[in-house]
Amino acid sequence: MTKGTSAHGKKSKGKNFIRCRRCGKPAYHIRKKKCSSCGFGKTPRMRKYNTNKKKKSNKRI
Ligand SMILES: [Zn+2]
Repeated sequence: MTKGTSAHGKKSKGKNFIRCRRCGKPAYHIRKKKCSSCGFGKTPRMRKYNTNKKKKSNKRI
């Protein structure tokens, strides 16, 4: 055994995520049966979060 991440080369055994039918990204979890990117299988609407969104202020200077 060498130092570092030599064992990570064997990480391709089995996969949990496949390409999503809705968003096309490899984020669809097979066992959970839902997509972590768009929420396919979880919600009929697209998964979306309001992150990094500036609040519009109605103040006028
Ligand atoms: Zn998806």
